[in-house]
Amino acid sequence: KAEVMDGRSDKRESVELTEKSIMAKPTFDKLQDERKSLPIYRYKDKLLRAINDHQILVIVGETGSGKTTQIPQYLHEAGFTKFGKIGCTQPRRVAAMSVAARVSQEMGIKMGHEVGYSIRFEDCTCEKTVLKYMTDGILLREFLGEPDLASYSVLMVDEAHERTLSTDVLFVLVKDIARFRPDLKVLISSATLDAEKFSDYFDSAPIFYVPGRRYPVEIHNTKAPEADYLDAAVVTALQIHLTQPPGDGDILIFLTGQEEIENVEDILKYRLRGFGSKIAELIICPIYSNLPTELQAKIFEPIPQGARKVVLATNIAETSLTIDGIKYVIDPGFCKMKSYNPRTGMESLLVTPISKASADQRAGRSGRTSPGKCFRLYTAYTYYNDLEDNTVPEIKRSNLSNVVLTLKSLGIHNVVNFDFMDPPPEESILKALELLYALGALNKHGELTKVGRRMAEFPLDPMLSKMIVASDKYKCSAEIISIAAMLSVGSSIFYSPKNRKVLADNARMNFHVGNVGDHIALLNVYNSWKETDYSTQWYYENFIQVRSMKRARDIRDQLKGLLERVEIGLSSNLKDTEAIKKAIIAGFFPHSAHMQKNGLYRTIKLPQTVYIHPSSGLLHARPSWVVYHELVLTSKEYMRQVTELKPEWLVEIAPHCFKLKDVAGSDSKKQTCEGDLVS
Ligand code: ADP
Ligand code: MG
Repeated sequence: KAEVMDGRSDKRESVELTEKSIMAKPTFDKLQDERKSLPIYRYKDKLLRAINDHQILVIVGETGSGKTTQIPQYLHEAGFTKFGKIGCTQPRRVAAMSVAARVSQEMGIKMGHEVGYSIRFEDCTCEKTVLKYMTDGILLREFLGEPDLASYSVLMVDEAHERTLSTDVLFVLVKDIARFRPDLKVLISSATLDAEKFSDYFDSAPIFYVPGRRYPVEIHNTKAPEADYLDAAVVTALQIHLTQPPGDGDILIFLTGQEEIENVEDILKYRLRGFGSKIAELIICPIYSNLPTELQAKIFEPIPQGARKVVLATNIAETSLTIDGIKYVIDPGFCKMKSYNPRTGMESLLVTPISKASADQRAGRSGRTSPGKCFRLYTAYTYYNDLEDNTVPEIKRSNLSNVVLTLKSLGIHNVVNFDFMDPPPEESILKALELLYALGALNKHGELTKVGRRMAEFPLDPMLSKMIVASDKYKCSAEIISIAAMLSVGSSIFYSPKNRKVLADNARMNFHVGNVGDHIALLNVYNSWKETDYSTQWYYENFIQVRSMKRARDIRDQLKGLLERVEIGLSSNLKDTEAIKKAIIAGFFPHSAHMQKNGLYRTIKLPQTVYIHPSSGLLHARPSWVVYHELVLTSKEYMRQVTELKPEWLVEIAPHCFKLKDVAGSDSKKQTCEGDLVS
């Protein structure tokens, strides 16, 4: 049983609330006052003592109590940074950035100096950085370069309750290095009370509770299930805004992703226009992980007197970010969740009902500074009978190929018996080993190969890394890293305004001339941008998002640096699209699909019916053999980013997976492909 150190026995002081400055940027003194008003402040000395006395400490405190922003500062002030950096991990990119920004403000220094953050493809730190906020994935990768993390004196694995895949792997690695680095301090911090599990896992590490302040929250459920929860959310928000005085408090709506957030923003704006200036101003603040950095800070900015803020947030506002002043929470009860089928190897993001634990966290966001109200857009029956108690840890519903490759690179051979807090399904591990073997990253004894070692240098999924490593052979690494960079930016490259949809579609199709396939079209976009010398006019004419292109360039620069690290020269072979396609297939052959007699596509290894995504340039060309980047499940399983291939290439590139009879067999015989095969 864990020893429990408790601040709760202390006599509670009456809660002092610092008044939020209106409009003006908070001054240094004001920020110091705010720091002192956080619940954790009174436990500062006790906490530092506990950290001194124990190597591993589990810290539990409600969201907003000051764990993430204050503990690293306390440790810095207490001199821990004399012996090394303090690293603090966050499951979400936005949280890492936003918290680092806040802490550098509180310390009155420029971001990126003593305080910095590091997220994939974006490193805002320097040699001076002693407080480093980063995603859990970044710290995981740091083990590859520095297996004992000698440059750190403290590691704080924050938001541990989120149980992301990377955090779960970090637990194992951190526990391991703590054994041979007695000087290293390890803090596991969590916003929920199930800390016993963490404590048990870390050899009965003591638990330090930071009592939060919590005001009562009134829960309102709907009487019947809502058919359209977006509409219900808008109506509820407007009702609150129209009937409650604006000075009263802000509104927070939990939505599942960018698309929903943009939708709700549109509907809200439209309805608000109907009221004209008769009502108080309602300021809409979206927050989600792909929101451009410069807009992210808006949720924290003070608003004019008499106005009200409505924050439209993903799960990020559940525990990672605390927005002060929220009095009303609207909870439709859904989030986007990854699911993985180890049999088919398919991973998808699905809108799923949240867990009871999540619902409680969400409700709690409304009672931080005064009594709050939470409007659940589902019935009380649903809450008690349909919702799971807790969210299943990500490791149990993920494709593990990336994790297994990382562990193998760290010299951990036996991944099946790895000391996970909750072991993943053995099937998922076997599937990962199988894929890595097929890609040539592991040999048949499960040992890392030279190809695998090179692949592990890239912070990308194994199939993408393999595509890059293979581009060496096909002498087209320059093109392949452009494609990889564009793929990593995601689906936000083109935009299509409703009133100019035809123009936008035509512009997009210009990059697809000759049915080159989506990968080469992305390359065409990138190169065309470069040729115009990054002109602004070009964005308008082609309906392309500036930001995405700049990000692609950034990512490409970094991939170029990594190529050098693995000693692959930059080679260009723009004219030879066959070579480029072969490099793509060298990574993505597990994602090949073939058209059946009935005109439907079927994935090759595990028969599953799939469709070409409507955004694809090959939607109408419908070649009989294709390779795709990813599957997205909406109304159907769609293949996104599709390129044509010749079936004999599969046999040439992955002879251990495809035999001539495989690709010539089945329905294809009766199709035109047979001719292709013998040619
Ligand atoms: P915890 O980690 O315990 O949830 P935090 O340290 O994140 O708490 O938050 C402490 C306080 O700092 C909260 O009141 C929160 O509103 C404030 N805060 C955190 N990040 C920012 C930011 N980027 N801008 C303004 N305030 C912030
Ligand atoms: Mg936090």
